[in-house]
Amino acid sequence: MARVYNFSAGPSMLPESVLNRAAEEMLDCNGTGQSVLEMSHRSKAYEPIIYGALDLFREVLSVPDNYKIIFCQGGASTQFAAIPLNFLNGSGKADYVLSGQFSTKAYKEATKYGDIKVVASSKEQNFSCIPELDKANFTPDADYFYICQNNTIYGTRFTELPDTGNVPLIADVSSCFLSEPMDVSKYGVIYGGAQKNVAPAGLTVVIVREDLLGKARDYTPTMLDYKVLADNDSMYNTPPCYSIYMCKLVLEWIKSIGGLEALKIRNEKKAGILYDFLDSSKMFHNPVNPKDRSMMNVTFVTESDELNAKFVKEAAEAGFVNLKGHRSVGGMRASIYNAMPIEGVEKLVAFMSDFEKNN
Ligand SMILES: *Cc1c(COP(=O)(O)O)cnc(C)c1O
Repeated sequence: MARVYNFSAGPSMLPESVLNRAAEEMLDCNGTGQSVLEMSHRSKAYEPIIYGALDLFREVLSVPDNYKIIFCQGGASTQFAAIPLNFLNGSGKADYVLSGQFSTKAYKEATKYGDIKVVASSKEQNFSCIPELDKANFTPDADYFYICQNNTIYGTRFTELPDTGNVPLIADVSSCFLSEPMDVSKYGVIYGGAQKNVAPAGLTVVIVREDLLGKARDYTPTMLDYKVLADNDSMYNTPPCYSIYMCKLVLEWIKSIGGLEALKIRNEKKAGILYDFLDSSKMFHNPVNPKDRSMMNVTFVTESDELNAKFVKEAAEAGFVNLKGHRSVGGMRASIYNAMPIEGVEKLVAFMSDFEKNN
């Protein structure tokens, strides 16, 4: 069967050249006579894979020397607890912005460990926008300030970072990781699950400013203590070996097409094609505040649930799969991460345009 265009929010498409390379190397990676799936993480054969991936991550994202890159497990959701356990270590206070479901979950988890304040929320607007921030509400002695930078479910993103002064900014970037250049030095911590833009599921990447490490609460589980993971080169225990290998191949692919600057241009172009169509359509409509539109997750609706369902079904039959919106919001969502080719979006728009004419 021909490959489909997969608009899933995650796990999601991987570049075809990366999948081909992994297939070629499945039985014998790099002349070792072994599959990566079979390698000991402590072997000479695996060393260039994990250290190569860590180095390439630093190079591709321009991560400054005073930041540690940690490969761990548990998904972004496990970090919702790991973050307070590692960084809620001074005043015991933290500020959270609620801009969707994932930041709300992160907030609820953090309330188990300290004095957590919601400084802004767009819940009343059904998370269709990034809430306005008022610096006067920020807690001056907070241990950190937390945001979810791209809201995967609602299709919004922060286009401007909050000015938190000396309070470290922590951002969940699961669904916008490696989609464009980022100034890592503006953050204390960035982290994300890999299964959206970076690799298959199983790998979580945490990037931490060094001076924030080493102050975890004494009851922090060892496996959630970022200092322990960093000190052991992400191999305190068995890491997700194969996902790390795939991450390395994805990073090599990003480099080969011109790095994050080139990807940003491609990603802006893809999102532009889709939003331009939605703005001109009489049937489909993007329900979020235009200035907060995500470049990675584009949500859209028609006037009725029946028409939405018909669209999702016919699109799948035509080879555009996983366009159904998140179960909590309905409608449609096209996740157009790095690996989605421009022609995938062009063909989707052509299909939507025909669907509009015929219905
Ligand atoms: C997918 C996602 C999560 C949850 O990730 P898991 O790895 O499944 O725990 C959290 N935050 C954001 C922004 C996401 O897109």
